[in-house]
Amino acid sequence: MKNSIITSLFLLFTTPLFAVDVVDYVNPLVGSMSKKLLSTGNTYPAVALPWGMNFWTPQTGEMGDGWAYVYTADKIRGFKQTHQPSPWINDYGQFSIMPVTGCKIDQEQRASWFSHKAEVATPYYYSVYLADHDITTELTPTERAAMFRFTFPENDSSCVVIDAFDNGSYIKVIPERKTVIGYTTKNSGGVAPDFKNYFVITFDTPFASSDIWSDNKIVSGEKELAANHVGAIIRFKTRRGQAVHAKVSSSFISFDQAWINAKELGNRNFEQIKKDGKERWNDVLGRIRVEGGSVDQYRTFYSCFYRSVLFPRKFYEINAQGEPVHYSPYKGGVKKGFLYTDTGFWDTFRALFPFLNLVYPSVNEEIQAGLANTYKESGFLPEWASPGHRFCMVGNNSASVVADAFLKGIGTAYSETLYDALLNATDKVHPDIPSTGRWGADYYNKLGYIPYDVKIPENVARTLEYAYDDWCIMQMAKKLDRPKDEVELFRKRSLNYKNVFDKSHNLMRGRNQDGSFQTPFNPYKWGDAFTEGNSWHYTWSVFHDIQGLIDLMGGEKTFVQMLDSVFVVPPIYDDSYYGFCIHEIKEMQIMNMGNYAHGNQPIQHMLYLYNYAGEPWKAQYWIREVMDRMYMATPDGYCGDEDNGQTSAWYVFSAMGFYPVCPGTDQYVIGTPLFEKMTITLENGKKLILNAPQVSKENRYIKKIKIDGKEYSPTWFSYSRLKQGAVIDYEMSDEPNKQRGIEKKDYPYSLSNEK
Ligand code: CA
Repeated sequence: MKNSIITSLFLLFTTPLFAVDVVDYVNPLVGSMSKKLLSTGNTYPAVALPWGMNFWTPQTGEMGDGWAYVYTADKIRGFKQTHQPSPWINDYGQFSIMPVTGCKIDQEQRASWFSHKAEVATPYYYSVYLADHDITTELTPTERAAMFRFTFPENDSSCVVIDAFDNGSYIKVIPERKTVIGYTTKNSGGVAPDFKNYFVITFDTPFASSDIWSDNKIVSGEKELAANHVGAIIRFKTRRGQAVHAKVSSSFISFDQAWINAKELGNRNFEQIKKDGKERWNDVLGRIRVEGGSVDQYRTFYSCFYRSVLFPRKFYEINAQGEPVHYSPYKGGVKKGFLYTDTGFWDTFRALFPFLNLVYPSVNEEIQAGLANTYKESGFLPEWASPGHRFCMVGNNSASVVADAFLKGIGTAYSETLYDALLNATDKVHPDIPSTGRWGADYYNKLGYIPYDVKIPENVARTLEYAYDDWCIMQMAKKLDRPKDEVELFRKRSLNYKNVFDKSHNLMRGRNQDGSFQTPFNPYKWGDAFTEGNSWHYTWSVFHDIQGLIDLMGGEKTFVQMLDSVFVVPPIYDDSYYGFCIHEIKEMQIMNMGNYAHGNQPIQHMLYLYNYAGEPWKAQYWIREVMDRMYMATPDGYCGDEDNGQTSAWYVFSAMGFYPVCPGTDQYVIGTPLFEKMTITLENGKKLILNAPQVSKENRYIKKIKIDGKEYSPTWFSYSRLKQGAVIDYEMSDEPNKQRGIEKKDYPYSLSNEK
């Protein structure tokens, strides 16, 4: 007895987070309290497995509304299979399932009040009480299938409505097999003409009766129909508390493949699928264990971590022979091999892909294979894919996504194809999708910048990103032993950022074809020469050559003053390019951080740049401010669009105490760690242990760093060193250490410093 008490006490005091289900810290509702004019994430609760082909979400919005689930809504209309990466891009391949009592088909009539107090949202399981029908709905997913459990009241007309949505759908009821099959074609672009999402739904309970419907009206006597907007209603005679289960699977390839995908559920019952889903999440999120923080910080961290491992999603399926195959959104039909989709590289090249390269290289290995397939099927790498090329954002940042992976030994089997794809895009633009390839490549290659006055919007943003992308291509070219003049061409082009730098303002500025700068110049003007930001936000987009930017500005002192100014100036703005205050502007304005706009991607690396100018303590100060003030595990938890893992991966990296300022280098630039201890288990089995025992809100400054017990002076870590496993000891203090990181030899990489 005594012994066991001692043992229990021992366990109590020595059991850190390791024994905890880390997935329990995730709140999938973070970011869902958003609207068009103000985003606190613009996310929905994605009930899914990591990188799963299908996500599920309760649906509060109308059919077709990008704001599919909004925290402030009162009613749920259905449970939607979704592939939506962002409300701005909207959904494809969606259909919904909704249990009701009585024959209510129309999305307004069938909608039910619900409460967050009668809702359980986890990554692997969702449950809600639908008050108007007295039905509890639960669902638990696999990668390409899901199981539902509906707990009905006593009712002769307990129903499940299946809604295949409009714009061309098909439904067939097969009562003798307790099955409904159908397809939806609803999409918002990026698909070939033969696009369909085939679904198969099998119940465990015989139907009392069933009907199909079209445009919300029952079509009597028919069991099968293809029309604009069709669905089915299945009726069950239930006693109170009776559970009806439905197995749902789908395929972008065929009904046959949808049946194959149903095998993911196997013979497991609801509880087993739920338990296995939880284990999968614990495994993926358990690669990083945190200790010595508050419960709020754990919840914020793991909620961000969850968002970092959803996109890009698997778009491939496993055929009867066990091989990966995919529907080609580019060519139509079925092709061999991997494909991932639903990500915009403009956002995710920054931190999300570098995060995969560090923690889940095997996933990016498959993604790179998929990129090679995309090039073969469409002649271009994607910049914004959902599921095929979409017209959105700027840059040619597939170069960063490919080169950073390649230089870290990922996707090397496809390097020839991928390098060819990168080269191919440097002088052309996709004929239909101007944000794929390089819009303005002719001007850029000839003049070294895209002029302001040639009707190519956001020209400075494009110039800056192409210059960085060219640096990425150069790095890959060097490693591939490409001809010297080819390497030199891209080295030269990577300096093109200098062509849009205006010394009179020390800022980036639009430049006309004749070489003059555009006037009038308002550095607070959003859009125009820039993309969803102003000159103050975009001037730092010289990821590969911050030293070159410092030199342009006239030295470190001015550079630091310019960085400081971003926080000092009030959040003034000029929104005339858009004609209204776009949500990104509003999100900057309300944060009380001057003109710093963490709610959008262009500036997210800026805080780390103090490290390039000998004042790393300022980076440490601001990074901690942003972690503490801009991220919470609440429904309004983000400070702008989350954007497919990018804004979340910023937090996950920053909490480690470092960040990939320039993907394509071997370096992570040091910030300030958040937790007393983090243990990262890499795929190669090595462990990265990060200790910061004194860390607190006050003790945010780094006094000293040791790697494996040896003092370490640089302001960056190298990937090649970290991947071998290491113990990093951060010694923290409430006073900046103004002796650390002040010597040039300790600065992070810049092209201009290369010998
Ligand atoms: Ca954004």
